Amino acid sequence: MAVPLIDLHRQYAAIKDKLDKAVINVLEHGQFILGPEVAQLESKIAALCGVRFGVGVASGTDALLLALRAAGIEPCDEVITPDFSFFATAGVVSRLKAKPVLVDIEGDTYNIDPSLIEKAITSKTKAIMPVHLFGQLADMDSIMQLAKKHNLIVIEDAAQAIGASYKGHQAGSIGHYGCFSFFPTKNLGGAGDGGMIVLNDIDGYEFLKILRVHGSSPKYYNRVIGYNSRLATIQAAVLLVKLEYLSGWTEKRREHAKIYDAALMGAQIKIPVVKDYSYHIYNQYTIAVKNRYELMRVMKEKKIGHEIYYPIPFHKQDCFNDLGYKNGDFPITEKASNEVVSLPIYPELTQEEQEKVIEVVKSVSM
Ligand SMILES: *Cc1c(COP(=O)(O)O)cnc(C)c1O
Repeated sequence: MAVPLIDLHRQYAAIKDKLDKAVINVLEHGQFILGPEVAQLESKIAALCGVRFGVGVASGTDALLLALRAAGIEPCDEVITPDFSFFATAGVVSRLKAKPVLVDIEGDTYNIDPSLIEKAITSKTKAIMPVHLFGQLADMDSIMQLAKKHNLIVIEDAAQAIGASYKGHQAGSIGHYGCFSFFPTKNLGGAGDGGMIVLNDIDGYEFLKILRVHGSSPKYYNRVIGYNSRLATIQAAVLLVKLEYLSGWTEKRREHAKIYDAALMGAQIKIPVVKDYSYHIYNQYTIAVKNRYELMRVMKEKKIGHEIYYPIPFHKQDCFNDLGYKNGDFPITEKASNEVVSLPIYPELTQEEQEKVIEVVKSVSM
């Protein structure tokens, strides 16, 4: 039996009628750019997070980029990010000609290690961009304390963490800006690209709404150079339907995680560490093993979906050569990138499938 890493068709099949109706409704009303569904989704996501505003944009990457612009990041400014994340986290900083300053991660959660942040702060540091990797929040109390002390802006990369929380506070609601992605494989995924920034500050909100329409306000009068970055109305319509199911889907992921935890604990496997302060939403269920390539070879042979998130830390990426880092600078990230592998955890995963995954993983890494 093959088990895919993710199967989006099962989700579609379960709610097909509602999705089809929502998409056709947009085709009928024709307000494809910033139609009413976009504002509805913005209010609902803001409410979910317990913040005042949401601004829909074209992708999670653009959510980060526009948040950095709203935070006033300029060329030569420094922004602190973890070394271990999806490319976009550091990529957006470089796109503004600012400098990503990398910090190593915690060995248990794979999130930025707050105890290493202060050493990375200089007179040029303007912001910290923690990532809530795999669906668990970074240690936000420590990060917010440092930010306050050094007068820095905090932009949460919550792309993998919608609905996750830290001491009861929702992902995206703790820093000055929270950024979400609606990439199809995220816990709330659209039928294409999409993203959103959430925030409480009304000036930032007004500015972001201008930035996503080329920086023009009123139309054709440009105060700043902005972007063409809107959340498509069709995507918002799809996401409004799916949002109703999000908490149920998250519970399913958490149930699957519990089963994996119990089955894989004790083997030569590091299962995900969940902090007391965390409500983990398992965008990924990521284990660490010493014999990863052997495990992956067998998983491939047995057709068990899996993926490495992420095989190359930022400091080893060719495009970041000019940052001047070298091998060994971030030992915890290097170790993680050599050992992690993510297993199927989508809500529709069946018991039979999960048992198969467990059997194969244990056969190699016991
Ligand atoms: C998915 C993701 C992004 C980018 O989101 P897109 O919608 O694909 O542009 C950024 N950061 C992290 C951590 C992500 O997982």
